[in-house]
Amino acid sequence: MHIVHVSSELAPLAKVGGLADVVLGLSRELSWKGHDVDIIIPKFDCMDSEQIRDMTMDTKDLMSFYQGEWFSNTIWMGWVENLKVYFIEPHHPRFFFNRGCFYGCDDDIERFLYFSRAAIEFIYKRPLNPDIIHLHDWETAVIAPLYADMYHKIGLTKPRVVLSIHNMEYQGKCSAADLSSIGLDGTLYQEPSKMQDNLSPNLINLLKGGIVYSNFVTTVSPSYAKEVLTPEGGKGLESTLLKYQKKFKGILNGIDYSYWNPEIDRFLPAHYSPREIPANKKDRNTLDKKGFIKKLLRETLNLAEDHRPIIGCITRLVPQKGVDLIKHTMRHIVDKKGQFVLLGSSPIPSISAEFHRLKHQYTDHPHVSLTLHHQEALAHMIFAGCDMFIVPSIFEPCGLTQMIALKYGTVPIVRRTGGLADTIYDVDNSGKPFEETNGYTFDVPDATGIDSALDRAIHCWFEDPEKWRNLMVNGMKIDFSWNHPSDIYLEVYKMLHQNGNSKENQTLHK
Ligand code: ADP
Repeated sequence: MHIVHVSSELAPLAKVGGLADVVLGLSRELSWKGHDVDIIIPKFDCMDSEQIRDMTMDTKDLMSFYQGEWFSNTIWMGWVENLKVYFIEPHHPRFFFNRGCFYGCDDDIERFLYFSRAAIEFIYKRPLNPDIIHLHDWETAVIAPLYADMYHKIGLTKPRVVLSIHNMEYQGKCSAADLSSIGLDGTLYQEPSKMQDNLSPNLINLLKGGIVYSNFVTTVSPSYAKEVLTPEGGKGLESTLLKYQKKFKGILNGIDYSYWNPEIDRFLPAHYSPREIPANKKDRNTLDKKGFIKKLLRETLNLAEDHRPIIGCITRLVPQKGVDLIKHTMRHIVDKKGQFVLLGSSPIPSISAEFHRLKHQYTDHPHVSLTLHHQEALAHMIFAGCDMFIVPSIFEPCGLTQMIALKYGTVPIVRRTGGLADTIYDVDNSGKPFEETNGYTFDVPDATGIDSALDRAIHCWFEDPEKWRNLMVNGMKIDFSWNHPSDIYLEVYKMLHQNGNSKENQTLHK
């Protein structure tokens, strides 16, 4: 199969959150399974270009439509982790992707509308001729109606369109005029059955357009797929998803174990695995090396060397991630004789200021460390060097950090919601045999909830080291690789092509 992903993020060069990891991990797995995968992203000035190999100009003057005029774009092609990636560089006077950031501009809607139109124009003109166009989130969702109502009519008929929703919180709401800027008459789409926002009828909703006009829609875990059918989870789009439930499925994200793996991690000073190594073997690839990394982590972050567990947290600091619980937990962990390490940054100025105040307050504290920017290498050291990892999310579509933590033998403590509920099984009260448990969970996102789970974990760490070690190993042995999820995506892709000429499938374009 030939699959083209169109995305606003791609790890490791253009990463804000899990979307970047997912596009890379899924693409690599599909490519290893023999499929032809291309990725299209904007040519951001701030991306880490060192991650791109052999960048060459692919197309000099790709013309794309915006606000009644045609603008030229240069398309670059380069290799990222052995995947073919096309970068769209617009020659528009507003320099849409030369802003020093991935998101966060006042005109983000216009930036990604421009990108979406240019990307489908490129697929059509070059031609890439894929079997599947796979879209991700609101930033590229508008390609579904562009395909159905514009490009399908001018001869781009082979691809089927799949949309993956990574987070319902971000929907891309805009005006009808914004939609018109890329050549779809916005007023015609401002209807309940098309792209009119369900909560604010005067607005267009780009994510809704993706749901209505794609051939298939996925989200990133089975539990989240159920939650988004309720008003709380669907954030206005629940009725649309219920209407299209037949073409909607939750597929759990995977982890790319060639990148996130303590046996080979290029950012770690030592490597370890859960396997028992025969005593006579020289290469001691053992779990005890984790203790060495813990020591180095403490040195790096100026934490006291003491008999205490380190509890880590790596996250975007936004309300969804339970920022109030993170603040509360900091103090509680110190009271319970633990150490706390936070790596996070916030796009929200008030939250960012608050955490900078806390960082100042905890300066030189022997048991608390806050790092408030994006730092890939430190993230790997934290996953490996900590004993526990907290994910106290209010809602969580999938969550990757709890699965990464498991692989590094760092026991997750999570709120039981969305993908966290699908991946973490409480050692004390999940009802599963011990071998199938891997962490601690709590239900109510308040101080009592997280304290109860943390206290049980810290108690076990101090009082029952053998049980703790077995719990770590349980987590390390679970397979959350992309192998299984990529098979489910392939089933969806194949099903869409088998049904390609059926009446039902044709009507999805209407
Ligand atoms: P989301 O996509 O909602 O941000 P996920 O758990 O799906 O959350 O993915 C988060 C990804 O971003 C993980 O790979 C995590 O390690 C990474 N990450 C988050 N914040 C930072 C940071 N400050 N520095 C390095 N990596 C980070």
